[in-house]
Amino acid sequence: MTFRIMNIVYWIIGAVILVWFTMGMYRHRQRRNKTIRIIEENCTGCGHCVKRCSHRVLETVKTETGMYVAVKNSDRCTACGNCMGKCKFNALELIEKI
Ligand code: SF4
Ligand code: SF4
Repeated sequence: MTFRIMNIVYWIIGAVILVWFTMGMYRHRQRRNKTIRIIEENCTGCGHCVKRCSHRVLETVKTETGMYVAVKNSDRCTACGNCMGKCKFNALELIEKI
């Protein structure tokens, strides 16, 4: 009886791991086709998103009229969304790669 219960537990654990892995792969595939875009009219140039991106996709640009943020290396973007979590102005979005 104990043996049978342990078998069921192992099956459940196996199924959970399989679902978790499959969902991870699905999310990874979805992200691979996306990249970051700046909605310029919403951006204040605060630079929080630049600090948040460990892939150095974004850069702060200084001009005579102020600061803004530009996408420097869109190829490096993993679409992780970390920068979006830091933006309070709704100035970042993920778009399909062209
Ligand atoms: S966090 Fe948002 S508002 Fe600030 S620079 Fe980045 S995109 Fe612009
Ligand atoms: S989505 Fe991730 S990799 Fe892409 S710019 Fe934002 S923080 Fe960087």
